[in-house]
Amino acid sequence: APAIALDHVSHTYDGGVLALDDVSLTVQRGEFLAVMGPSGSGKSTLMHSAAALEVPTSGTVRIDGRDTRGLSETKRTELRRDLVGFVFQSYNLVPSLSVSDNITLPLRLAGRAPDVAWIASLVDRVGLSGRLEHRPAELSGGQQQRAAIARALVARPAVVFADEPTGALDLRTAQEVLELFGEVAEDLGQTIVMVTHDPAVAARAGTAVVMADGRIVQTVQQPTAADLAG
Ligand code: ADP
Ligand code: ADP
Repeated sequence: APAIALDHVSHTYDGGVLALDDVSLTVQRGEFLAVMGPSGSGKSTLMHSAAALEVPTSGTVRIDGRDTRGLSETKRTELRRDLVGFVFQSYNLVPSLSVSDNITLPLRLAGRAPDVAWIASLVDRVGLSGRLEHRPAELSGGQQQRAAIARALVARPAVVFADEPTGALDLRTAQEVLELFGEVAEDLGQTIVMVTHDPAVAARAGTAVVMADGRIVQTVQQPTAADLAG
C-alpha cells in the first residue's frame, strides 16, 4: 500500500470555510513530498487530514493501507503513535529531558523496547552523538531540529510530517536540515511529507504539490524553485 492515500477528501470547518475541496493524493513509500501554497490555501488542513489529526468532512484517508474513517479519538491516537512522526517549526522538544530521552520518548510512550543499534545509527546520522546528555536549550537551533527529526524517526513510522521545519532556522542551517530529510528518504526509504510556503524549501523535495483555495493545482517532479515561484 502507499504510505498515504487521500481519496476525494473535502473539509469544511464550523462556520462554513471549505478548506479542502475534493483532494486526491497518493504518497508512495520513500517519497519526499512538499506541500506548497500561500497562507490559507489548505496546506495545514491537508496535513492534519493525512496525519489523522483531523477527520475530514468527506472522502477517505488511508495511512499505510489503514482506513482512518470512523475511528474513535482513542483509535486515531493509537494509529498516529504506530504510523506517524511529526517535526514542527519550533522543534517542540521537552526542555527538562536530555537529547537522548527526547529522541527515545515515542518508544517509551508506545511501551516499545528500544533497539539500541538503530538508535545509535540514528543519533550518528543526525550528528548528535556528542550531545546526548545535553538539554535542548544547550543546543543550537539546527541541532534541536535534528534531535526532533531523530525523535520523529525513532519508531520507524510509515510517514513523517514536517510542518515548516526550517521556518525558525537561518539559511545555511535550513539547508542542512533539508539535506538530512533528503538522505533519510533516500537511504532509509522514509516517506516524508513537508508543508512549506517557501518555493526554495519545497524545491528540495522529490515532488511538490502546489495548493490554492483548497485544491492541488500543480504537481511537479524534481521541482526547482523557479517551477514553484509562479
Ligand atoms: P494553510 O496551512 O495553507 O495556511 P489552512 O489549512 O490553515 O491553510 O487553512 C485553509 C482555510 O481554512 C483558511 O481559509 C483558514 O482560514 C481556514 N481554517 C483553518 N483552520 C480553521 C479552523 N480551525 N476553523 C475555521 N477555519 C479554519
Ligand atoms: P550550528 O551552526 O552548528 O547549528 P551554532 O553555530 O549556533 O550551531 O552553535 C555552535 C555551537 O554552540 C553548537 O555546537 C551548540 O552546541 C553551541 N550552542 C549554540 N547555542 C547554544 C546555547 N544557547 N547554549 C549552549 N550552547 C549553545
